[in-house]
Amino acid sequence: MATSSPVPTRKDIQISGIRKHYAVCVTEGKGGVVCGARSSLWDNPMQSNAWIRAHSEEEGHTKFKKHTEEEVATFTKPARK
Ligand SMILES: [Zn+2]
Repeated sequence: MATSSPVPTRKDIQISGIRKHYAVCVTEGKGGVVCGARSSLWDNPMQSNAWIRAHSEEEGHTKFKKHTEEEVATFTKPARK
């Protein structure tokens, strides 16, 4: 068993996947209830724009939020002095 004090480490965060795009409808309906409809996750932001246009056309909703999602992973590295 090692008896020496542990080597100081630090956590690194690295992007481990493709950035994904999605949109959520935040239009308030009657009684202040937010629609909340959510698009699929896409690799391409153009597809979330297309979803927004289609949803707006179908429902008459006008307020949306666009989101991006990025997968990351942490790595433990020895800390440098
Ligand atoms: Zn909506």
